[in-house]
Amino acid sequence: MKEFDLIKHYFAQQGLNRKDVVLGIGDDCALVQAAERQHIAVTTDTLVAGVHFPVETSAHAIGHKVVAVSLSDLAAVGAEPAWISLAITLPSIDEAWAKEFCRGVFELCEFYNVQLIGGDTTQGPMSVTVTAQGIVPFGKHISRTGAKAGDWLYVTGEIGDAALALQHVFGNIKLAQPFVENSLKKLNYPKPRALAGQALREYATSAIDISDGLLSDLEHICQGSKVGANIVLDDLPISTAMFETLGQEAAVEMALNGGDDYELLFTVSQDNKVGMETALANVGVTVTCIGQLNPSEKITTTLNSKPVLIDKKGFEHFSENNV
Ligand code: ADP
Ligand code: MG
Repeated sequence: MKEFDLIKHYFAQQGLNRKDVVLGIGDDCALVQAAERQHIAVTTDTLVAGVHFPVETSAHAIGHKVVAVSLSDLAAVGAEPAWISLAITLPSIDEAWAKEFCRGVFELCEFYNVQLIGGDTTQGPMSVTVTAQGIVPFGKHISRTGAKAGDWLYVTGEIGDAALALQHVFGNIKLAQPFVENSLKKLNYPKPRALAGQALREYATSAIDISDGLLSDLEHICQGSKVGANIVLDDLPISTAMFETLGQEAAVEMALNGGDDYELLFTVSQDNKVGMETALANVGVTVTCIGQLNPSEKITTTLNSKPVLIDKKGFEHFSENNV
């Protein structure tokens, strides 16, 4: 099997057909229909074996994750996902691997009505890159720059479990048997918060998806919006698996600094709190208020109403602290 067979037999096999795809896989470019009075949101993410996922990760999980992380970026700006392109580099052609990888990609595409419209296939050390495009009504996107002092800080779902699972995979932590399956699911099959992101268009003053760690990503909102924040650590949504495995202090630290959550961190004004909570409950997403913004341009934390010092660092490429 060669490059073109791989494309034809696997990547070009998606059944779903969006009406706005004028030209799909097989030509020099894909063509999509741009709608009037709408923005197209565009984002690219690469996953490199051994850097973004442990080398033993299943092909199915890699396929899911590479799409999920891109859809998560679209969610953070409030875009409705529509089209993806896939650039894939493989050491050799392994049909069983390709089949499982595509199953992961297409399951998520079908769920969100997303079409794979093109890509590139090359030989080399394994890495996968997805460019995702989504649609936002004119002027309705959410950015990192709109937060105001006084706004409330919220997060979707629970945080820290993907980092916990990664430490388990590395053998640094031993998870109790009842926690293993769910934690690994958080790491390998993150849920992009696509519906929550779209619902937040009407309410959020800013948003970001948590990929590098809550603190690091909050810092992006604070810098972008020129505000500070206090996080009430007692209120962080932390799973039982995290608490029971690590104890409160280490669980809080992992929830703040661990990456790969792909939950949304966002801000809303006092006036929009109730409306937002209702809208997100309607799309089945739990949210937790974890603090409030202030004019200080600093991030502080309190535990049991007392200030505590926090040490930041989510994962940063090219940082000297990485091992
Ligand atoms: P070109 O030489 O014009 O760049 P290619 O030979 O790389 O085209 O690809 C042929 C067609 O297959 C193009 O439409 C391209 O978008 C698509 N394609 C290539 N690789 C992938 C992939 N991994 N996933 C989806 N589509 C792909
Ligand atoms: Mg090409």
